[in-house]
Amino acid sequence: MPSDENSTRSDFIRNIVEDDIKTNKNNGLVSTRFPPEPNGYLHIGHAKSICLNFGIATEKKGTCNLRFDDTNPVKEDAEYVKSIKSDIKWLGFDWKDRLHYTSDYFESLYNYAVELIKKEKAYVCSLGPDDIREYRGTLTEPGKDSPYRNRLVGENLDLFVRMRAGEFEEGEHVLRAKIDMSSPNMNMRDPAIYRIRKAYHHKTGNDWCIYPMYDFSHCLSDSIEGITHSICTLEFEDHRPLYDWILDELNTKCHPRQIEFARLNLSYTVMSKRKLLKLVESNIVNGWDDPRLPTISGMRRRGYTSGSIRNFCERVGVAKRDSMVDLALLEYSIRDDLNTSTPRRLSVLNPLKIIIDNYPEGQEEELEALNHPGDPEMGTRKIPFSRELYIEKDDFMEDPPKKFFRLTPGREVRLRFAYYIKCESVIKDEKTGEVVEVHCTYDPETKGGSSPDGRKVKATMHWVSAAHSVKAEVRLYDRLFNVENPGGDKNGPDFMESINPESLKVLTDCHLEPGLADSSPESMYQFERLGYFCVDSKDSMPGSLVFNRTVSLRDSWAKVANKRKK
Ligand code: ATP
Ligand code: MG
Repeated sequence: MPSDENSTRSDFIRNIVEDDIKTNKNNGLVSTRFPPEPNGYLHIGHAKSICLNFGIATEKKGTCNLRFDDTNPVKEDAEYVKSIKSDIKWLGFDWKDRLHYTSDYFESLYNYAVELIKKEKAYVCSLGPDDIREYRGTLTEPGKDSPYRNRLVGENLDLFVRMRAGEFEEGEHVLRAKIDMSSPNMNMRDPAIYRIRKAYHHKTGNDWCIYPMYDFSHCLSDSIEGITHSICTLEFEDHRPLYDWILDELNTKCHPRQIEFARLNLSYTVMSKRKLLKLVESNIVNGWDDPRLPTISGMRRRGYTSGSIRNFCERVGVAKRDSMVDLALLEYSIRDDLNTSTPRRLSVLNPLKIIIDNYPEGQEEELEALNHPGDPEMGTRKIPFSRELYIEKDDFMEDPPKKFFRLTPGREVRLRFAYYIKCESVIKDEKTGEVVEVHCTYDPETKGGSSPDGRKVKATMHWVSAAHSVKAEVRLYDRLFNVENPGGDKNGPDFMESINPESLKVLTDCHLEPGLADSSPESMYQFERLGYFCVDSKDSMPGSLVFNRTVSLRDSWAKVANKRKK
């Protein structure tokens, strides 16, 4: 289970919740919610919020609602609703029967707005968008009252009813809360709470042409659902006075406490849905589930496990100050998870043909290979050996530098689980001079990879039998951006200008050991010396396998962590 009731996790939000339970606030109950707007797929930042909200609910024996914050029909879509539900389930969380939509409350929200008008705490403003902006003032100058601020209750009610009835065009009127145009907090300068939007809504169809603004609908939806702790990200800190003002003015039975925490930022990544949508729409990536994206569905397709994402969110922790998390920490979390559980296999990504001249033609044999060198319980498997093999191109050099210990003319190396082989000669392409075939001899006495006379070799290499191997396409991924904080500098280049042109490398002539022929979608392996790989869930088919590299084996984070320890 993702979070258990006996967890000892602790952070400032959990401390607040714990104190509220102790003082029997909300009768000792805890109710949280995760409120995504269905205008894109979920990303790793959302995962942090999901782990926090569902995690606290589970630990404190409370409940967590899933609420779609669907108040902007122009950008929202049922496809997003579907993907969000499926991603949350996959992450390991369950809202049970607590699935809600802000749109379910449209009638109640409308009635609350009418109540505010009647209390002379809201008015219909007929300034155009530009004037509203100008009247708002700036951070250093107070705003000016709208000429419509003192409209009488009757007139406001009449106009609001007619706004709902569709009598006006978009932008002609808005409903505004009547608070304080000179407040130092810009959010309190008579914010808009309802606007006209003549758009089809994925749930309410054409029932409505006025829609509540986030600040108005969010606090009231929280209150309607009896949320106790409304956890959101830091940019809403300045909205909290408005959150409280609305609930106080309407004297609601339930007044949840809004608590803000720092959003997750990851280096070399963009996280805003607006930016992700742009990458998708401009075909920089292939859809929302492209394995290079930080979306949950992209990461899943890449081979990230839900456990590794939850562990990552826990490692990152919950803080009150914004920070940038190193992408290497995410990679560490997945390696950490896959290392113990993932079976090892031999695969060659860039093949170079090896001919064992003294191995009889037509002969073949099966060798025993460990499924996991660190875990004997994972057992062994048989892999075929024959006269013609493939090794990795990089593992051979005709004219090597000093520190190159792998195969080179005259040198002996070990083939993993097989034999010692020695390079005798090479055959080159006449035109290009490229080595296309390496001729070797093997020592039959070294079966299994050790020599009875104690002869040592400096390299152990992976290989496959050419005739037995299965072909596959392998996709190697690199970070999508080549700067640490793409688009992060307001005066610097746009994030679209920092795209790494080499974020995807497709290798089409890869050779895998034959047992991998029937691997099912999403299954994971460590290809020895190469990294962790998973079968692509969309494009892979029997007879035409496609693997994604989840992550390489090199672990820069572990190195940093070890250095720190020393
Ligand atoms: P984006 O900036 O990606 O569009 P958003 O805040 O508009 O995000 P919502 O669908 O409104 O997206 O987010 C749902 C919940 O997830 C909110 O409570 C929001 O605060 C939280 N959330 C969004 N991004 C992050 C993040 N990077 N780290 C932590 N929580 C996040
Ligand atoms: Mg939002």
